[in-house]
Formats: sequence, structure tokens, C-alpha cells
Amino acid sequence: GRFAPSPTGPLHYGSLLAAVISYLDAKSRNGDWLIRIEDIDGPRTQPNADKNILTCLSAHGLVSDFPITYQSRHHDRYEKALNKLYETGFIYHCPCSRKELSENRGHTARCVSQDIGGLDCAIKFRATNKSFYWQDGIYGHREAVIDHDFVLKRKDGLYAYQLAVVVDDIAQQITQVIRGADLIESTPMQLALYDALGFAPPIYSHFPLMTNDQGQKLSKQNLSPSVNNHFAVENIREIVRLLGIEPLSEQHCCKAILTDASKRWSRSQLTSIDHFDELIR
Ligand code: GLU
Repeated sequence: GRFAPSPTGPLHYGSLLAAVISYLDAKSRNGDWLIRIEDIDGPRTQPNADKNILTCLSAHGLVSDFPITYQSRHHDRYEKALNKLYETGFIYHCPCSRKELSENRGHTARCVSQDIGGLDCAIKFRATNKSFYWQDGIYGHREAVIDHDFVLKRKDGLYAYQLAVVVDDIAQQITQVIRGADLIESTPMQLALYDALGFAPPIYSHFPLMTNDQGQKLSKQNLSPSVNNHFAVENIREIVRLLGIEPLSEQHCCKAILTDASKRWSRSQLTSIDHFDELIR
């Protein structure tokens, strides 16, 4: 399993919940748990946010079983995958702007003609209208049709999340992806990429989000408070409790609480939960 934060700011309690869930899920299967810093979007990456996140995780007993990886160092992997997808006809270069696409209700003539020499292009995955199914570890049977092309590399050269996450999950041999329900719409696109690249996908599971008292997902935009490391033990106890596991009273160390909770963790405890209330410190 893995936890893959984007270093756009410090962790809030919703991301700490995501880290704990992915950790318990991996450990309950005797698996390894990896931390991957998803810093492909240079302009959104904040200086030192990675260090801040890693300090917060380790203060909470959440330590990667393998060296921490950074997506910004994996460009060669992404290029290799794009070459493979190009050779197999799954992707194309598109010079059209979003405005042109919406005004034309589709591609411009120069894109359709593939006469794109010398133009700045995005690289897009071609929709195949194929249905993708998965048995979500929490939400059960899900399916969706890929009926729209999606970007894998932007015109400005940035690799898209969908490409980077799949290529890295393949490279790191991730077999269980458990993440917030806000990413559930991405799963069919990621399944399409696994299919196109010729690899078996992981088991995908999505859990209900932590929301503030206005019902909004926690985020920097919503000014969600960042995790307070001084209360690490209390934070972990509280999160484990939110997951339906009563921590043993004699445990006063994050790692011990997590190890014990991993033995009592079950995804089914989350199936009836609509959302988690924000943890406030
Ligand atoms: N980097 C993504 C985020 O911070 C998570 C990606 C994933 O778990 O697939 O939302």
C-alpha cells in the first residue's frame, strides 16, 4: 500500500486520516507501506512542504517501509510509458486549447489531421468507450465508461496526475490503493491506463471523506487547520476511534496504537459511514 501526498501545504486531519487508513490496511495484510511525494505539479508545490509532511507522519508513527520517492525524479519513467502508449495508438498529440475544444465542440481541423509539426501539444489518452469495472474494497461493485479523452501531459510539459500515479503504482508494485472518495472518479481512467500499459491493476478502495461543519471536504482552500504534532498520540487515538477501533488504554505511543489497530482493522467498518467529522485540536 501507499500514501501519496501532494506537497502543496502541511497535512490537515483529513490527510492524516488517509495516511492512517492506508497504513492500517497495508499492515493488516502483512504488506509494506510506502510514502510517495507527488510533486509533479511544480507550480503548486510549496517549498519544504515535503519535509513538513514527512515530519508530521513520523511524529505520528507513520514511517515508510521503503525509501521515500518523489515523482519529480521519475520523468524518464513517464516518458517511457508515453512512448509505449504512443506506439500502441492509445494517445495522440493535441494542440487545441480548452477554449477551441469547447467552441468547436471537438478538435480543430489541425488536430484531426494530425498535422501538428512544430506546435505546442498536450498528450491525450484516446477515449475508447470501453467500460471499466472494479470491486471497490469499500463501495463494492463500480463501473464507468471512458467516454472522454484525458490529458497525460500538458502543453506546458507537466505530467498529469493520472499518468504519474499509475506509472508509479506499477513501478512500486502497489497491490492495494486505498484513498479518499474524492478520487473515485479518477479510478476508471487509471484502470484504462493499466489496461493500455498491459498491467494488472491493484484493488482500489475509497473511503468517506472528513468534512468540516459546513460539510466541505478539508482543504487548504477551506482553511482547514494543519495537524498539530504536539498531540500526536491523541490524534492517532482519535483517528483509530473514528475507524471503529477502541485503542487499548495502556498504549501511549503512536506506533503501538497503530500496530494494535492494524490487527483489528477491517474495511467493512467503513461501509456504513457517510463522512467523518473534522477532528479539531
Ligand atoms: N496525490 C494525491 C492527493 O494528494 C493522492 C493520489 C492517490 O492517492 O491516488 O490527493
